[in-house]
Amino acid sequence: MSAAIIDGKAIAAQVNQETAAAVAAWKAKGITPVLVVVLVGDDPASQIYVRNKTRTCRELGMESRQIVLPAQTTQSELLALIGELNADPEVHGILVQFPLPAHLDEQAVIHAISPKKDVDCFHPENVGNLLIGETEGFSPCTPRGVMELLARSGFDPAGKFAVVIGRSNIVGKPITAMLMQKAKGANATVCCVHSGTPDLAQYTRQADLIVCAIGKPEFLRGDMVKPGAVVIDVGINRVDDPAAPKGYRVVGDVDYDEVSQVASLITPVPGGVGPMTIAMLMRNTVTAVQLAADGK
Ligand code: NAD
Repeated sequence: MSAAIIDGKAIAAQVNQETAAAVAAWKAKGITPVLVVVLVGDDPASQIYVRNKTRTCRELGMESRQIVLPAQTTQSELLALIGELNADPEVHGILVQFPLPAHLDEQAVIHAISPKKDVDCFHPENVGNLLIGETEGFSPCTPRGVMELLARSGFDPAGKFAVVIGRSNIVGKPITAMLMQKAKGANATVCCVHSGTPDLAQYTRQADLIVCAIGKPEFLRGDMVKPGAVVIDVGINRVDDPAAPKGYRVVGDVDYDEVSQVASLITPVPGGVGPMTIAMLMRNTVTAVQLAADGK
């Protein structure tokens, strides 16, 4: 059996169309959604991410402002900038691109961004809202992207056994919380396995749904997957490949060739979860406009 592919690019394009329509509606009322992206230093991967976010923002009719700070920026300078952006009524969403240079404290930055402008959904207030099932505010971009991929591919997690591999704050923990909610498109029985789990394949082999987010190239092998399972690969890893034009290629956390022979539905890398992350960031920026308009 060969799995059907979940086309993240096509689904992200659908979501972006909806977001563009919402942006147009706000603009008709005289409000242009504004996202400010702050980049500290010159990490090449971060520069690419910021460029992609800025481009998509503009394609959807929003305003994107980039603030690039030197790598030597101090903690107090960065926090002062965030304070100004929090207070600026023209700014709806604030995103500080991680990772920050080592001398800066990412947790302090997460706490400093106003929860009303926190389009990454990293602030503890928003993470708490997610856990208790509040649906009005922001959603963390990559996990919400995974949920949308499932919903728009016709897979209902309700009553299914889902295994999330990885427990990071930005992917593993929130996707675990989302899948377990008593809500439409969720309601799964969820197990989160991680670096402290002995023999994690004993769990993945029972799973109807596997979400893999660990940052280990091609970790999930075919013999770890139950025939017919749905497999979502969040990983983005560069592996050396002298035959590739750039000397490397990008692979996920799932051994695609093996697992696609066993699974019923699978996301490719690239072209799976990646495009959804930006699409959800765009949607969160429109949510920020709504929150500002509601005075929430
Ligand atoms: P992270 O490094 O913060 O967390 C990795 C998690 O995996 C940890 O909880 C760790 O316990 C677990 N882990 C590591 N090795 C393991 C092993 N051998 N067995 C079991 N568990 C193990 O990573 P992250 O930020 O969650 O990202 C995970 C992957 O997803 C990375 O490849 C990252 O690049 C990718 N990612 C992609 C997107 C996207 O837009 N597609 C967004 C965020 C992250």
